[in-house]
Amino acid sequence: MRIAIINRDRCQPRKCSKECEYFCPPVRTGDETIVFVDNKPLITENLCVGCGICVRKCPFGAITITNLPEEMEDPVHRYGQNGFALYGLPVPIDGRVTGLLGPNGIGKSTAVSILSGILRPNLGRNATWDDVFARFSGSVLGDYLKKVADKGVRTSYKPQYVDRIPKSYSGQVRGLLEKTDERGVLSELVDNLSIDKLMDREISSLSGGELQRVAIAATAARDANFYFFDEISPYLDIYQRINVARILQNLARDKAVMVVEHDLALLDLLAENIHLIYGVPGAYGVITRPKGVRVGINQYLRGNLPEENVRFRDTAIRFEVHAPRIDKEIPTLIAYEAFAVQYSSFRLQAEPGIIRRGEVVGILGPNGIGKSTYIKVLAGVEKPTSGSFESRLKVSYKPQYLKADCDVTVQGLLRSSTNDFDSSFYQTEILRPMGLEPLMDQALTELSGGELQRVAITACLSRSADLYLLDEPSAHLDVEQRMLAAKVMRRFAESSEKTVLVVDHDIYLIDLLAERLMVFEGTPGAQGIAHTPLEMREGMNSFLKAINITFRRDEETKRPRVNKPESRLDRTQKEQGEYYYPVEEF
Ligand code: ADP
Ligand code: ADP
Ligand code: SF4
Repeated sequence: MRIAIINRDRCQPRKCSKECEYFCPPVRTGDETIVFVDNKPLITENLCVGCGICVRKCPFGAITITNLPEEMEDPVHRYGQNGFALYGLPVPIDGRVTGLLGPNGIGKSTAVSILSGILRPNLGRNATWDDVFARFSGSVLGDYLKKVADKGVRTSYKPQYVDRIPKSYSGQVRGLLEKTDERGVLSELVDNLSIDKLMDREISSLSGGELQRVAIAATAARDANFYFFDEISPYLDIYQRINVARILQNLARDKAVMVVEHDLALLDLLAENIHLIYGVPGAYGVITRPKGVRVGINQYLRGNLPEENVRFRDTAIRFEVHAPRIDKEIPTLIAYEAFAVQYSSFRLQAEPGIIRRGEVVGILGPNGIGKSTYIKVLAGVEKPTSGSFESRLKVSYKPQYLKADCDVTVQGLLRSSTNDFDSSFYQTEILRPMGLEPLMDQALTELSGGELQRVAITACLSRSADLYLLDEPSAHLDVEQRMLAAKVMRRFAESSEKTVLVVDHDIYLIDLLAERLMVFEGTPGAQGIAHTPLEMREGMNSFLKAINITFRRDEETKRPRVNKPESRLDRTQKEQGEYYYPVEEF
């Protein structure tokens, strides 16, 4: 079975010579495989032979022709002929947090719009509700959809891009939150999410992390049957992520909660069941039946779904226990003595440390603890108030919050950042794995959050510098993109002998990416300590000890998994001081 998708945003029939129709072999022999109606191409799937010529000939890369991996029923929903097709639906279950795990553009929001009653499923044709009930009759999902059709399901929804909230809401946080407090739980949520100090602030003045917490509180405060959170982790530090996980688990005591989340350690901790979604982003998505969270995440990492008989990725994502590199072999980039920076209400103290050439150092710590201040000192932008620090290092920096305010294209930006744009190294080691080739002619202002993030990471690595600092590169990237970005950053450090520092709160990303770790501790907004960079095991041990969490390694994939508090392993590891892995796994 084959489907043909035309991306209507990219397709520009006025600017091309209708190459798709002209070159299509069946059209040449008289079939109406591609016809133009109202100057728009339409492809009839059962006349298409799947040669892929139109895909290659379209100057805007607007066409996707793809075979479905198995014999499928009709889709649950399709956005018209040659539009995205969704197969299967997740099932909200009262009393549970259900996770959705899949790449961006695979139909998660479409599925949730259906479950919320915003979008009526059309079964890929002009189906009525009765057709839908007949299709799902006798199932939990069928009963649920009946309630949706009778307007018997109230939904509360947290959107993916919290940065856009100030465009639709103005006024103070208090006003917004009080309106949503239908369950009378606001003060508890305000407390748990540390929003009290934000209550009298204007929504337009909040940072991304503050907006995220306000949006989570507003969503959880509503009285609904079905709660949906489209990503909870962006801009939140690990403490805040764990905190939100607890809030959602509490909410799910008597409600159905569904979460899209790409931070796998968090999803693992948070959800009981997950649905995986595979397919071709922008073309079709297939939602699997629910799986236990451990098995589901493992299958996702392996790229292989045995029950569905589907392999959706050639290579498995593997976690390894890295042997530390021997110090002597690696030249030093910078060695510094202890220093301190004193602001009016914040003090950063840095222990002495060494940063080496060609290494990736992960940086972990809460928001507002002085990470950016430390980097500014390394870059020579900020002078320490005590201790001496001489730096002539050139730093290339990707900030946590991204703004596309100039109307330049992706290609324009990257060409202005590097002279190597046309080199084969740049094309094959950076542009291709970052998935930027299809975006080259798009203006920065047209990009989605995840696309902008990939462009910003690439632009940062493109500039000439001694030290590269990326602040939260994982935000808005799906798991696939995180893993690819990790690989690109690592290879970049190795092959160009440059040093890359990555601040991120996604433990899996840091585990895959970093050779060493720097931990920041203290009281956010008041004082912070920048510990010396350590080997991963030592660094993670000190970090996890501070948050009182232990990890074990999953037997199959070697990924870290949070131990249940007070479980046998948790207690033993704490006694041994080995928070990152149990001793026997070294
Ligand atoms: P996800 O939430 O997994 O990122 P979405 O459900 O938002 O994915 O989108 C899946 C696909 O459906 C995308 O390719 C998107 O362009 C397409 N799509 C979403 N909404 C519409 C719509 N109203 N009309 C046509 N296509 C749409
Ligand atoms: P992080 O990068 O860990 O989020 P920062 O280094 O940005 O933390 O900030 C740490 C603290 O220092 C914050 O409370 C911030 O408000 C304060 N701060 C940062 N820059 C200045 C400055 N130039 N003057 C006064 N306070 C500052
Ligand atoms: Fe025609 Fe080949 Fe395109 Fe199908 S894939 S529409 S047969 S050109």
